[in-house]
Amino acid sequence: MTVSSPPDVIVIGAGAAGLFTAIAAGKRGRRVLVIDHAPEAGRKILISGGGRCNFTNVDAQPARYLSTNPHFCISALRRYTPRDFLDLVERHGIAWHEKKLGQLFCDNSARDILAMLLNEAADAGVEPALDCAVTGVRRADGGFVLETARGQLTAPRLVVATGGLSIPKMGATDFAHRLARQFGLDMVRPRPGLVPFTFTPRDLARTQGLSGVALDAVVRAGPIGSKGAAFREALLITHRGLSGPSILQASSYWQPGQPITVDLTPDLDLAEHLKAAKRARPNAELKTILGDVLPRRFADRLCGEGAPNGEKGGEVESRPLRDLSDKSLAAVGEMLRRWTVVPAGTEGYRTAEVTVGGIDTNELSSKTLEAKKVPGLHFVGEAVDVTGWLGGYNFQWAWSSGWVAGQAV
Ligand SMILES: Cc1cc2nc3c(=O)[nH]c(=O)nc-3n(C[C@H](O)[C@H](O)[C@H](O)COP(=O)(O)OP(=O)(O)OC[C@H]3O[C@@H](n4cnc5c(N)ncnc54)[C@H](O)[C@@H]3O)c2cc1C
Repeated sequence: MTVSSPPDVIVIGAGAAGLFTAIAAGKRGRRVLVIDHAPEAGRKILISGGGRCNFTNVDAQPARYLSTNPHFCISALRRYTPRDFLDLVERHGIAWHEKKLGQLFCDNSARDILAMLLNEAADAGVEPALDCAVTGVRRADGGFVLETARGQLTAPRLVVATGGLSIPKMGATDFAHRLARQFGLDMVRPRPGLVPFTFTPRDLARTQGLSGVALDAVVRAGPIGSKGAAFREALLITHRGLSGPSILQASSYWQPGQPITVDLTPDLDLAEHLKAAKRARPNAELKTILGDVLPRRFADRLCGEGAPNGEKGGEVESRPLRDLSDKSLAAVGEMLRRWTVVPAGTEGYRTAEVTVGGIDTNELSSKTLEAKKVPGLHFVGEAVDVTGWLGGYNFQWAWSSGWVAGQAV
């Protein structure tokens, strides 16, 4: 451990939020001890953004976050902004680029971001103590006593930055949630977010043989008309169900049993297109026309062709357009603009990028992330019921929440 005298602050979790809290507090002259049970700091940073870390989003505004209290994140996001983080990245000479939709990535590797954080931490006098499991936490003499693999540790302030439940094989635990309960804090039920959907056997049969087909689509989940729950990006059919950015985004808004609806031709009034095609090419088969506007394999399958088991019967009957009434063409158009599936479930925490839910924001100060009922105890990052969309928003929450807590401890 680098801190010889007792620290002012112990941070549990050397991930994005924990390291950023420690940097901010260390720079204020606080003696900070960061501990993590993993053998390496920032493991999720290393695997993020396909290895290039989508480290922020220029559009990180509150509407891009799910939370029972949508206003909670405003203060932290205003006080430590994407521009602030980008300035830091640039001061460290890290090459970056904007990919799409305001998403900023490293040109080279996510390792650049982790190295930057560890350098900043070292400058602030902080070196994470790794392989250090915490077996118990209690309050004593106005501070906190931790039982750990390295013996008993005490500090007047404790920051919990142990993240959510996603990817247990990378060391994710429910530590923050258990500690919150131990201290009598309410929780918003956690569930996997930014996660692929799985299909029922019936829907798997509907899409059999289509794994790998990608479409540009608008995916909607959550109660019809609910704010921010329609996403236009790629949708990918997998051998288990559906994935791709639009699906991952929608999954964070989905509740078991609910349908998702997919507009398969977002740039086209499909009903009108089909009726116009009937006038222009009356002898053309419906599946040919659909194959012009959708991936051909998908269009064939919709019309009951190309099933690996040779089964016939699709969602749409393909005939020459001249044999189809305008009404039935309009119905096909409507159906494909509201293609509806009720997912069997999600792939769960095994592949989820985030955990939706967590420590109820009503229990925390939005200015300091301190528990109102337990002075000196702070929760930051993904452990809190603030979940960003896909696209760099979750790291920005980790930086912003960590920074504000670091100013307060
Ligand atoms: C595959 C993948 C890709 C992602 N890509 C992106 C991306 O490109 N952009 C983006 O914004 N977000 C991305 N995310 C989400 C992002 O990684 C998280 O939201 C972010 O890491 C949360 O930061 P955190 O510090 O709260 O938690 P974490 O980064 O998960 O850190 C928690 C730390 O606590 C430690 N810990 C856990 N339990 C204990 C315990 N009991 N005792 C001691 N230590 C413990 C863990 O070992 C870990 O080091 C991705 C997530 C995944 C899974």
